[in-house]
Amino acid sequence: MSVLNRPYFYDEAAAFDHVEAIMWPQGPVCHHCSSMAKHYKLAGVRTKPTKKNPNGVERHGLYKCKDCRKQFTVRMGTIFEESHLPLHKWLQAIHLMCSSKKGISAHQLHRVLECTYKTAWFLAHRIREAMRSDDFTPMSGTVESDETYIGRLAGTDGKGMGKKNVVLTLVERGGKARSFHVASTTMKAILPIVNANITKEAHLFTDEGMHYRNIGKKFEGHRTVNHGSHEYGRYDTDHRGERVNVHTNTVEGYYSIFKRGMKGVYQHCAEHHLHRYLAEFDFRYNHRIALGIDDAVRSLLALKGFKGRRLTYRGPYTSQA
Ligand SMILES: [Zn+2]
Repeated sequence: MSVLNRPYFYDEAAAFDHVEAIMWPQGPVCHHCSSMAKHYKLAGVRTKPTKKNPNGVERHGLYKCKDCRKQFTVRMGTIFEESHLPLHKWLQAIHLMCSSKKGISAHQLHRVLECTYKTAWFLAHRIREAMRSDDFTPMSGTVESDETYIGRLAGTDGKGMGKKNVVLTLVERGGKARSFHVASTTMKAILPIVNANITKEAHLFTDEGMHYRNIGKKFEGHRTVNHGSHEYGRYDTDHRGERVNVHTNTVEGYYSIFKRGMKGVYQHCAEHHLHRYLAEFDFRYNHRIALGIDDAVRSLLALKGFKGRRLTYRGPYTSQA
């Protein structure tokens, strides 16, 4: 047996059961009136006959509301609703994106799922949307902050080579990461984000970048690593007189995975989609094995993110991603 033998990866009824159990832990909720009464499950309902399916297709997971009498499924009001792709293929796509450390390209999804490239592309962006974190609790303890450049991204018109883009990442040691697409590495661009995401009591570790001289003063403790003189870590005493290991290796480790993914898998990410890729890499990092989360649980957590989420961006289809 392998993970791929799980019925919800190939059986549509099992896929509905799986998603319903996650979305409706207390039983079916009517999409139209939010009633949680004992709804009727409608079995054996088929779609209208078409040329391709003269007998129609079975409609799985269909309920009739006991109160408002309207029909609903678990797909309604979620990102799933926006495509006609069978639910079991959605689950395959979510599993692939959650279990591949560096991500999976739309081209590969298209080949594995045997759907069109366009469908695969939309699917991947919707899954990234579900992965987006809504945790805005300020980070505390020891937080490493750093920036990296991600170059050769397509311009906003989807053509040509745009400028290099700056990514700012904050990592709580032993905890979570948050990444942002920022305008530059100036204090003006970095400070508001650092202020909003890290508590004043935190211990900030950065490199010797000029912009951190003033930013660092806002925090109880600030230590810098002098990469310019080939220093990659040292023991120091902090403001409480405690011995601390000063380095930014955690955030650099994050960037090494991010860069390998962006170069190897997502070579043509458009600039205006960069924040979605960052949400994807943050999500996998924040639900990593080291925190006791395996592929199955990570997929489950991504699925939970589908609840009430819709893709807000509805721009034109572009192959530049
Ligand atoms: Zn209802």
